[in-house]
Amino acid sequence: MENCTPVFDKPKVELHVHLDGSIKPETILYFGKKRGIQLPEDTLEGLLQHVILKEPSSLTEFLAKFSLYMPVIAGDREAVERIAYEFVEMKAKENIIYVEARYCPHLLANCGVHPIPWNQEKGDLTPDEVVRLVNRGLKAGEKAFNIKARSILCCMRHMPSWSPEVVELCKKYQNNSVVGVDLAGDESLTAETCPDHQKAYEEAERCGIHRTVHAGEVGKVQVIKEAVGILKAERIGHGYHVFEDEHFYKQLLKENMHFELCPWSSHLTGACKSDFCTHPAVRFMKDRANFSLNTDDPLIFNSTVHTDYKIARDCMGFTEEEFKRLNINAAKSSFLPEKEKKELLHKLYEAYDMVKSTEF
Ligand code: ZN
Repeated sequence: MENCTPVFDKPKVELHVHLDGSIKPETILYFGKKRGIQLPEDTLEGLLQHVILKEPSSLTEFLAKFSLYMPVIAGDREAVERIAYEFVEMKAKENIIYVEARYCPHLLANCGVHPIPWNQEKGDLTPDEVVRLVNRGLKAGEKAFNIKARSILCCMRHMPSWSPEVVELCKKYQNNSVVGVDLAGDESLTAETCPDHQKAYEEAERCGIHRTVHAGEVGKVQVIKEAVGILKAERIGHGYHVFEDEHFYKQLLKENMHFELCPWSSHLTGACKSDFCTHPAVRFMKDRANFSLNTDDPLIFNSTVHTDYKIARDCMGFTEEEFKRLNINAAKSSFLPEKEKKELLHKLYEAYDMVKSTEF
């Protein structure tokens, strides 16, 4: 699916993409060599054979991919800053004019206090410094490639003890690149049974930190209910299982809840087993719901944003008008401060020849 020609080559907004799932393979090879860390293969093609998910698979298989290359990036200051910079470069090439990159700072650190599968060795790179390095990389990228990039810090469902620190980092760097908090990982570990996640999200809400939650990707509609009701999520990552409860879905439609959809990702992780023509995105589109199209982890899915747009156009019947509508909705649902959101919207209206129309 890689390198397909642009389907909607106008300015776009991307809200759901993982920084550690968007690393250039060349960069992985470079740091493997520099740090003397063994990778499964030392050629570009060989490495990609291992890292890319080629067929619909399982979440476990998908997560195992990170363990293949994260050891060469995590814990290295130069690597952490560089992946952030290159991320912005990559998105600028796709004509994304505003992007929110998400990552868990703990998974890129190596200060040894955390049981991270790929970091057995103790180092001195803390989650706090990781955020500073990513911020620096994003800001340098913004300058060089003339787009806007912000970040969302992820709590991990299986590591509730990290969540309070993640939210503290959101507070510390609020509107200094960081615009929100996310909860990612195994959805069978519900927040209801994890008071740390609940408390962290309460604190986020109290401090005006924007909130999104991975929910209903593979998990049941109950996980989405919990994200909305308990964690006060303003956006839902994926949310495909919302249709299990029509009444609840209608309520979210009414409330204009934003769904961050990732069609190609949902196919390869096995989250959506149906054909693309019956994918939940089709229903969201027909109902004129508030959603965005996103890549999630383009390295592992061997994709660009054009991959998802091509699927939407060719298999789901999305039109040019729909692409405009969903990008405007993405901009409106972004975690930018109001003034910057207006500027972003204005840029889109201009690019879409909609300057005069205020409603869409
Ligand atoms: Zn995700």
